[in-house]
Amino acid sequence: RLTSREFRAEDTVVKVGPSGEAAFGGTEFTVIAGPCAVEGRDQMFSVVDAVVAAGAVMVRGGAFKPRSSPYSFQGMGLAGLALLAEQRKRTGLPVVTEVVTPGDVECVAEESDMLQIGTRNMQNFELLREAGASGRPVLLKRGMSATIEEWLMAAEYVMQAGNGDVVLCERGIRSYDRSTRFTLDLSAVAEAKRLTHLPVIVDPSHSTGRPHLVGPMSLAAASCGADGLLIDVHTDARNALCDGAQALTAQQFGALMDRLKPVVEAV
Ligand code: PEP
Repeated sequence: RLTSREFRAEDTVVKVGPSGEAAFGGTEFTVIAGPCAVEGRDQMFSVVDAVVAAGAVMVRGGAFKPRSSPYSFQGMGLAGLALLAEQRKRTGLPVVTEVVTPGDVECVAEESDMLQIGTRNMQNFELLREAGASGRPVLLKRGMSATIEEWLMAAEYVMQAGNGDVVLCERGIRSYDRSTRFTLDLSAVAEAKRLTHLPVIVDPSHSTGRPHLVGPMSLAAASCGADGLLIDVHTDARNALCDGAQALTAQQFGALMDRLKPVVEAV
């Protein structure tokens, strides 16, 4: 298997951006931050400036949003992609954004530095193949009901299409307890790191759905060997069009970045 430690013993380091501005794996610990969804120009400017000031080295933002309800905001689509491309040019920071259909892979790959495959599409095999063929690094989220084996098999699809630049992302799995949005499975991070040479990062925002849990889970993720984090930040979460309830404020994000430093250094 292409993902296995038997195939490759040493950690793969995935470099993202025109000059590899963000790197995942090996000794790197990399934080991606930004809004859940791209909502407009002013919003992107204010969130991106805040996360850059706090030390994020890569920006997130969804233009195509795979919402559970068809009545929820579905994302700005191509206009959102253009705003991401604008931020990328302005700050020089690489951008990751989700692609939800195989037909959009080409345009998303053109306007961003990394393709995100979301939890709901982890087993969309055509999408995985297309993303694999795109030449862009892929951020592959774990399906909310997927086993570790299924998650790694999804990564095999991308790698088999000729793309070794895959970063896995644990984002919580379904459990019976609704006190949190999902259940963050940190044991899966340590286990995946044992089984595969690919980098593994954690999304403490979508997994918990609670801003007060994002800090503790980020510190725990760093402690258990995660290679980075994907964090939702918003400067006006109350009026966010998508998942505002789980976003950190710019100030909370800055404080978390400070608390992460000694933990990352100690691991
Ligand atoms: C996201 O990161 O924007 C997202 C929708 O995440 P997930 O696929 O994990 O729900």
